[in-house]
Amino acid sequence: MQLGFDADERAFRDEVRAFFADAVSPAFRSRLRAGLRLGPEELIAWQKHLAAHGWGAPTWPVEYGGCGWSPTQIYIFEMEAALADAPIQFHQGLELIGPIIFTFGTPAQKAHYLPRIINSDDWWCQGYTEPGAGSDLASLKTRAVRDGDDYVVNGQKMWTSYAHVATQMFCLVRTSTDAQRQAGLSMLLIDMTTPGLTVRPIETLDEKRHSNEVFLSDVRVPAANLVGEEGGGWGLGKVLLDRERGFGAASALRLSQHLRGLKAAAAEASNGAGRVSDDPVFIARLAQIEIETMAVEMMVMRLMADAAAGKDSGPRASMLKLRWSELLQAITELWFETLGYDAAAFRALDHAEAVDRDIGYAVQGALNARVTTIYGGSSEIQRNIIARRNLGL
Ligand SMILES: Cc1cc2nc3c(=O)[nH]c(=O)nc-3n(C[C@H](O)[C@H](O)[C@H](O)COP(=O)(O)OP(=O)(O)OC[C@H]3O[C@@H](n4cnc5c(N)ncnc54)[C@H](O)[C@@H]3O)c2cc1C
Repeated sequence: MQLGFDADERAFRDEVRAFFADAVSPAFRSRLRAGLRLGPEELIAWQKHLAAHGWGAPTWPVEYGGCGWSPTQIYIFEMEAALADAPIQFHQGLELIGPIIFTFGTPAQKAHYLPRIINSDDWWCQGYTEPGAGSDLASLKTRAVRDGDDYVVNGQKMWTSYAHVATQMFCLVRTSTDAQRQAGLSMLLIDMTTPGLTVRPIETLDEKRHSNEVFLSDVRVPAANLVGEEGGGWGLGKVLLDRERGFGAASALRLSQHLRGLKAAAAEASNGAGRVSDDPVFIARLAQIEIETMAVEMMVMRLMADAAAGKDSGPRASMLKLRWSELLQAITELWFETLGYDAAAFRALDHAEAVDRDIGYAVQGALNARVTTIYGGSSEIQRNIIARRNLGL
């Protein structure tokens, strides 16, 4: 594993640093440090800004409009983004369905969808989970039946993030009930404006609108929107889930950003006897989290080094997902405790005051972080994968 950067990489780092210094608005800082995502309009504007600079798809090959960067360059880009409090790019188009389309899609799918993903002209959502199919995804029941040039889709998806703003959904559906459970699944690209498709909100703890149920009633999807082979959806779905966990590299590198937010809050907050940042118990807990954050950053470097050497990362993507999500919860919980009474009473504060003192963002960030050990495969499922792949259980 190579730890230092060579002269070209250092020059690249300086270029990226200068770009972010100019591009990132200070208005993003408090929200991003607290672990919140920006709103869809802000994320779309950010993506368009990156795309205009030629940096819209850092992990994609050049032939599909990507940057063609090495794993080390991607690491530098994400590290500098975190240092500058830049937003994380919305990943469902860019890191999930985009790579599936450029690897398995038809020429027409590639020509139509890929540039639109890079330029954020489409917003994608992921239609996998159903009321009875989450961890055990292969039991999903949403049915797609071929009828002429279309599939007719009936069923329900659950926890579909951002379906209410999405223009497209990549959706795992059952095209056969005869075959073995996994072999009966296919992937369809569905236009969210298709008649018969309804989106209903799910209320979440952080009081932000991001989760939804999606109902599909006789939704007609052109057969040309099938990705890969009919019955080949499980293989594509698994590639996607692995990529979602790998996308954790960017999230893991954001932990230091949240630590800066926590430290700033602790320097201002009082525990009655003095500043929280001077409290030995706080200092010990912070030090432990910082050490574990550094270990996670090293893990990202090892993942990148393995990728550069063409090696299989084994269970490391799952290890990374497990660690960054648990650490994010530890950081935001310590932040919550640091705020003390203010955290409990933030709803009673005038909204402007709560936001001005970053309390509102910190509380929402702590609540929002609860979900990270559930989505993209829960922590228990990650531990199962690690046990299977590492210990051969
Ligand atoms: C806010 C939010 C956003 C989401 N966004 C999306 C999205 O955009 N698209 C999408 O398709 N899905 C999304 N999901 C769904 C998410 O991927 C699932 O919630 C997750 O996979 C767990 O499935 P489940 O909710 O059905 O729980 P279950 O699978 O029923 O699990 C319940 C509990 O049992 C445990 N468990 C289950 N199986 C095992 C096992 N074999 N061994 C040990 N423990 C086990 C789980 O860890 C969990 O604690 C989102 C979820 C949330 C909460």
